[in-house]
Amino acid sequence: MWKDSPRAVRKVVGWFMLSGAVLALVGAMMEVTALTVIGVLLLIVAVLIHFMYYRCPHCGRFLDRSTGAYCPYCGKKME
Ligand SMILES: [Zn+2]
Repeated sequence: MWKDSPRAVRKVVGWFMLSGAVLALVGAMMEVTALTVIGVLLLIVAVLIHFMYYRCPHCGRFLDRSTGAYCPYCGKKME
């Protein structure tokens, strides 16, 4: 499952961020409110996924902005 791997979670969050930003931007430029709303919702979902699932698979601590190969709390290698 992607939720068990911080790297995969980061990728999923990245895609949500990217598509959300693009949709919101296109919606704003073309003045299509629905698109903007969907884009903003995707950005919110991205942040939620980040806070819910971006955790060390070993000790379960929230990793915040850490992107290293090892957990800053328990020092174990992350996938
Ligand atoms: Zn850890």
